[in-house]
Amino acid sequence: SGTGTRPPAEAPAIVINAHGFRYLNARLPVKKRVADLLRRMTLEEKAGQMTQAERGALAKQSDVATYLLGSLLSGGGSAPAQNTPRAWADMVDAFQLQAQRTRLQVPLIYGVDAVHGHNNVAGATIFPHNVGMGATRDPALVEQQGKITAREVKATGIPWDFAPCLCVSRDDRWGRAYESFGEDPALVTRMATIIDGLQQNGVLATAKHYVGDGGTAYGSSTNGDFTIDQGITRTSREELEAIHLAPFTEAVKRGVATVMPSFSSVDFGAGPLKMHAHGELLNNVLKGRLGFKGFVISDWQAIDQIPGDYPSDVRTSVNAGLDMIMVPYAYPAFTSTLKAEVEAGRVTMKRVDDAVTRILMQKFRLGLFERPYADRSRIGDVGSAAHRAVARTAAAKSQVLLKNADGLLPLRRDARVYVAGSNADDIGNQSGGWTISWQGSSGPITPGTTILSAIRSRAAGVTYSRDASAGLAGHDVGVVVVGETPYAEGQGDVGRAGRTLDLSAADRAAVERVCGAMKCAVLVVSGRPMVLGDLSGVEAVVASWLPGTEGDGVADPLFGAVPYTGRLPFTWFRSAEQLPINVGDAAYDPLFPYGWGLRTDRGQDRLKAAGAGLGAGDNLSKAAAAALTPALHDRNWNADGSARDPRAVLSALGTAASLLDRSKSDAYAVGDAVVSVARDIAQRAGKRPDLQAAADHELAAGNLRKAVDLLAQSAG
Ligand code: BGC
Repeated sequence: SGTGTRPPAEAPAIVINAHGFRYLNARLPVKKRVADLLRRMTLEEKAGQMTQAERGALAKQSDVATYLLGSLLSGGGSAPAQNTPRAWADMVDAFQLQAQRTRLQVPLIYGVDAVHGHNNVAGATIFPHNVGMGATRDPALVEQQGKITAREVKATGIPWDFAPCLCVSRDDRWGRAYESFGEDPALVTRMATIIDGLQQNGVLATAKHYVGDGGTAYGSSTNGDFTIDQGITRTSREELEAIHLAPFTEAVKRGVATVMPSFSSVDFGAGPLKMHAHGELLNNVLKGRLGFKGFVISDWQAIDQIPGDYPSDVRTSVNAGLDMIMVPYAYPAFTSTLKAEVEAGRVTMKRVDDAVTRILMQKFRLGLFERPYADRSRIGDVGSAAHRAVARTAAAKSQVLLKNADGLLPLRRDARVYVAGSNADDIGNQSGGWTISWQGSSGPITPGTTILSAIRSRAAGVTYSRDASAGLAGHDVGVVVVGETPYAEGQGDVGRAGRTLDLSAADRAAVERVCGAMKCAVLVVSGRPMVLGDLSGVEAVVASWLPGTEGDGVADPLFGAVPYTGRLPFTWFRSAEQLPINVGDAAYDPLFPYGWGLRTDRGQDRLKAAGAGLGAGDNLSKAAAAALTPALHDRNWNADGSARDPRAVLSALGTAASLLDRSKSDAYAVGDAVVSVARDIAQRAGKRPDLQAAADHELAAGNLRKAVDLLAQSAG
């Protein structure tokens, strides 16, 4: 489009208070500043604050000033012509300069979808998508991801991220399943720590999509089209709250600054209602009962989906509690329509003032009135070695070892490895959707390390043949990297454009050839579980999810530099006919249960580390450490790392878990280690996968004793 790509050479470093406006005095409390500014504003200026346009939709850069726009976004990868961090900062600053030229100098708030790192910017650090972060079961790591993402986003002059998606995806056929931390609300709730990572580092988070986006029924829609994305969540009020509302309750507790409603509808039995029109769930529940004090931003053009003409869309959504509308093209129409609705008395000035107050509160808190422009000294943060190292750790911790016959993994570094498969050498495929462009795409779309190059830098010898057509003889082991190609939103729905959860014919052929000729490991690079079929000829299987730019993170556990520790955030189905399948289902017969994940480190070592970590806690934690002591003795363990007397170990774990449950110290990481040893025992016994899945839910919910008891029961 050409808008906003010229650097604003004339941008002032400071904001000049030429008119002596009280609200520009940074020493006054934020509430006073907001009130002072609000009373000076015209209805037109207020309507502008409630409008968010897409930067590529602006006819002219000066439209920011002409229409008094409060916000701009880069939707789905909408980048400046030259996609570099500096060009992004220049672009945002140029728009900001326009806002500074308006009468009241209210700064713009610029928003972007940085959903796995600053993913629209070439060269930025790309983390695993949420599905992989859920597999890490590591809320502290997710918080660190938020911090790093915030730093990179800030470096380009952007203070607002439309993340995290707190969707609880209940059906793998949904094209946004990978944006979910998992199928269990307790797990998703734990991962809300990302909000702290973002907001404590100067970037507003957005909890999305409120509420029930991950619960839409397959094949449901309001307009008769086949869909699951943006469909209808048919449920009871109780179930909606227990499954889908829970993570938002946590987000509000953590002070999330903005919430985005879902495109979907909810149907409690009396017919579907669009979330963007749902005054009961937005006004009464979110802003009322939960006490949300931030502002509600609509989704992309979503008010247009509310039945009725445009004036009705505008008044219905604003009256339902939306504070800012992502129009994103129709900014002239939106501002004039909103104004007309207020003048006609169909939207009250009180409602408008509430919306604008909420928006301004955040702008003041961010310090935008004082520092509206990008801090150029931070540009080097984008894609820095230190940031990429954390993304690599995240990728490593997200790997879930599903099967490992004969202890094939980890591989030896002197191995001669045959590598094949569609996702072995493709940064685009390993990053998935929402990378550089909205839908993402295959190929070298941004700098990074592919899985193949990471294997090459480790193994003694590597032969690579994507389709496994080159000579198969003379190798010790095969690694076949299969999986999905990128997609985003509804375009990833199963059934759309022939998309299925089956491996491609080429990937299946590669698996057959390689695994028919040698011992082999299959790595599944995908946003969700896939149909794996007969695994009898395959020694090892790893769920690699969408690991992002750091292929080294995938290779680290593969070659034993770190152990496999990840666990399934989604139930792995046997066949697509079982969908939807979730932990807690009555008839639960998965291929691998929710929470499954083999480990390549020793339980005994994990317990030792956990016990050591307890020394600093309260008396109950110290008692838990003492209770673990019998389980640490060498005499209780076999040479292969398994427990010699599983009953004795389980009993020690149970006692420690009870004490930890009562302890006031934050023992999540330690509890995780304790429960993981019980899980090892249960997984070896291979009985009652439903109990193993339930145990993982109890762990996430903070009930360690219950988790250990369920695993003991599963061990038989
Ligand atoms: C998505 C949102 C996203 C928005 C802005 C929409 O299509 O549903 O998750 O934040 O676009 O790019």
